Formats: sequence, C-alpha cells, structure tokens
Amino acid sequence: MHTDLVAALDIGGTKIAGALVDGDGALLVRAQRPTPARDGAEAVMGAVGDVLAELRASSLWARAGAMGIGSAGPVDASAGTVSPVNVPGWRGFPLVDRVTEATGGLPVVLIGDGVAMTAAEHWLGAARGYDNALCLVVSTGVGGGLVLGGKLHPGPTGNAGHIGHICVDLDGDLCPCGARGCVERIASGPNIARRALDGGWLPGPDGDSTAASVAASARAGDLVAIASYERAAQALAAGIAATATLAEIDIAVIGGGVAGAGEVLFAPLRRFLRDYATLSFVQQLRVAPAVMGTDAGLVGAAAAAWTSGVWGTGAGAGAGAKGVPAGALR
Ligand SMILES: [Zn+2]
Repeated sequence: MHTDLVAALDIGGTKIAGALVDGDGALLVRAQRPTPARDGAEAVMGAVGDVLAELRASSLWARAGAMGIGSAGPVDASAGTVSPVNVPGWRGFPLVDRVTEATGGLPVVLIGDGVAMTAAEHWLGAARGYDNALCLVVSTGVGGGLVLGGKLHPGPTGNAGHIGHICVDLDGDLCPCGARGCVERIASGPNIARRALDGGWLPGPDGDSTAASVAASARAGDLVAIASYERAAQALAAGIAATATLAEIDIAVIGGGVAGAGEVLFAPLRRFLRDYATLSFVQQLRVAPAVMGTDAGLVGAAAAAWTSGVWGTGAGAGAGAKGVPAGALR
C-alpha cells in the first residue's frame, strides 16, 4: 500500500481531535472526543483510543505512514511522555508508546501544542514563506514555537519557543511556574481580565468578565480596559523583541483567543515593538494575526509528522513509500 497520508492527534484539556491528513494539509477524515480531564490516566487514554479506532475504521487508514501528536504541555518528546497542566491524571504519561501500540506500530512524533500551531502557520498560514518565525498562542496561557532556518525548531523535548514563561518584569508578580514577571503572567486572557477588574473595570450587564469582554469595552473607549490590553501588548512586545534579537526572526504570528481582540491588542503591540526591537536587524520585524484557526493543532501535528524524519519509516511503510509528497513542507 502506498503511504501518502499522515495521521494527526491534537490533545487538549477539553477535546481530543484526530484526523488523516494529506500532503496539502487537507483533513480527509476526522474524529473527536471530549477529554475526560478530571478522570484517571486510563480514562483519558481511552478517549484517545476511541479517536484512533474511528480513524482506523476508515478505508484511508492504510495510506497513513506516520503519526504526529500535538499535546497540551509540558511534553517531553525525548522521553515520549506528556504531563498536561490541565489533565492532572497524566503526569509523565507514556503517550508515544501507547499511541504506537494503538496504531499497530506507526512511527510517532510528539510536539507541544504551541509548536504544533507554529508548524501549521508555517506550512499553510501567516508564517508561510518566512524562514524565521515566532508564533504565539495567547489564550488562557501563552505558548509559542519557532521556525529557524526554514525548519520547525521544536527543541529536544518539543517545547522550544515557549515565550509565555520568559521574564519581562524583573520584580513582577509571581507566576505559577515559580518565576516572576513572566509574559503569561501579564498577557494571558485571565490576567488581562484580572488587571481590568482590579483597576475598577465593570463587566457589562451580561456579567461576562472575560478578556473578550474587556476587549469590547476597550473598543468602546473604556480607559481601564484599554490600559489592561496595552500592558499585555507591552509584555508581548518585550518577549517578541527579545526573541527577534536573539534569533533574527522575520515575523511574529499571534493566535489564540486573546488575538481576537484585533487592533485593541495589535496597535499597542506594534507601537511597543518600535520601543523594544531597536537594532537594525530587527526593525523590519513583521507582526501578523494567525489564520489557521481551530484546526491548527491537527494541521501542525501532521506537518511535524511529514517533516520530522519519521515519515515512511514504519513497519507498514515499506513498498511504495517515496518520501514527502511534493505538496508537503519544504
Ligand atoms: Zn512563568
């Protein structure tokens, strides 16, 4: 059987999604289950198994030559384990071994969800055509990933580019990670909302006190709401500028729910970047919103499988496997 597809898994705290993906990034078969995040390790693995069983039931399954997994982190790709913060039952869970077993021996590549989003944006999204990119996911947390020299740079454990936990405020607030003044502690959705509430911002009549509601108030001219987004933008700009200066990135792509604030976030972000990205080689740095949406995790996991070197190495991938299709990543 000619293997010209990859299988992909996107594992998060609320859902586990799977797909069979072709060399153009099209999701040909999809399956999804809610994550039983409060249950034990085997219950969560059971949901993964259900998704995989649904994919395996497809007549296209035999064409899959590798499996890519993007998971909520931390992940440890070198050990093949995951310990997602929002899935307490999985601590050092041997996901790669278990998925390898459940797929009948497909070669598996594991990356963090921020790295997966980065792979998707580089393959088919806002970072396409850029050889050096930083992609950020700004939502309940702040994650990210790097493309360097035209290639995804997951790092040894699959977590490289995790911009949410670099310090941008030396004596700032304590972060749950143990450090102080992390980008995430200032720029995540919950922290944007908390800072607005602390400053006296009042939610609308519907009681919605999320960052999206703060963004709506900012668009309507509420000064406290605007200030909370400006502080988040400042933290992001400092982190992006530091990354650009270290690694000479050409573009920063920003996705996640908080990016939905649009110009409320992006206008001050561009302004603060001019303050922080000052050296000649980072002044041309571009900032763009992510475009891949909710399928980014699956598309990115597939991209990692295409390009990691595991593709076409599995037991079922012998005859006919000819390497990455022309349409897949460079
Ligand atoms: Zn932190």
